[in-house]
Amino acid sequence: ESKRSRLREVREFNSKLAVVLRQRMQLTTELQQALRHEDFTLHYQPKVDMTTGAVTGAEALLRWCHPVFGLQSPALFVPIAEETGLILDIGAWAFKAAASFAGQLNRERREPLPVSVNVSQLQFTHRDMSKFVSEVLLEMHVDPRTLVIELTESLVADSSDESLTVFRRLREMGIGLSIDDFGTGYSGLRYLEIFPISEVKIDRSFVQGLDRSRAKRLIIESVVRLAAELDIAVVAEGIETEMQRSSLLELGCRYGQGYLFGRPVSADTFLGLVKQQSV
Ligand code: C2E
Ligand code: MG
Ligand code: MG
Ligand code: MG
Repeated sequence: ESKRSRLREVREFNSKLAVVLRQRMQLTTELQQALRHEDFTLHYQPKVDMTTGAVTGAEALLRWCHPVFGLQSPALFVPIAEETGLILDIGAWAFKAAASFAGQLNRERREPLPVSVNVSQLQFTHRDMSKFVSEVLLEMHVDPRTLVIELTESLVADSSDESLTVFRRLREMGIGLSIDDFGTGYSGLRYLEIFPISEVKIDRSFVQGLDRSRAKRLIIESVVRLAAELDIAVVAEGIETEMQRSSLLELGCRYGQGYLFGRPVSADTFLGLVKQQSV
């Protein structure tokens, strides 16, 4: 009898697994189709100087314009794209689109207004990113100082000597390197000293509990202090309230991103926003 119920459990498990696998396969097929049809777009969220409110940059955030379900967040499809390797092609598309936007945004500017683009670990391990990046920028006539690559903390923590060499080459070209979601991984402060980075982004989870947590304030303070010594810019993510803004400024964090300053918007809307500011 127990043998029989075990057998049933196994069958149920298998049928559930089949459903999950079918959904994943479907999503993968749809993503491949989206690549062919170029059903992706980038939205841009302002990064601001919190002392003045001036826009100091833009982060490119991927969106999938699904033919039935509309605009989809990367949280839904980036993980699967990473598992299946599709992120290589999607990421290459996103990088080129962001580079082209950086060119457009900076065409008539004296001081560069950099565009940040998120890059997955696989894109670094699978090919020579410094070669890819320099070829794209050369072909598009885009100034490397107008681009920043955002890496996750785990990529930085796992990185080999080879990726360290690639990071260095990118920095020598003039590309900015940023550690995203800082504080959520297992890397810690010493990575700021080891890696050739230009920026660190304090994760939203630190900004959220700021007023209730002395520990979070102390962590932000020490990141800010060390970063200043190393000439690394500090950006706080996910700022939604005036209180968070003023607390961060008190802690010495000058740059920020979040719904308080602006949500991600289309390329055209962003261009309009910046044009308004420069008059
Ligand atoms: P991220 O790079 O940490 O981007 C910040 C996310 O927080 C974005 O979500 C943004 O819309 C959201 N956000 C900004 N301000 C606020 C705020 O004040 N409150 C809250 N609650 N959220 C805020 P999004 O656009 O859904 O992107 C999610 C993640 O997907 C990104 O996190 C990034 O890791 C990844 N991603 C986005 N674009 C790309 C891409 O082109 N390539 C790769 N590999 N990953 C990407
Ligand atoms: Mg990011
Ligand atoms: Mg982030
Ligand atoms: Mg984050």
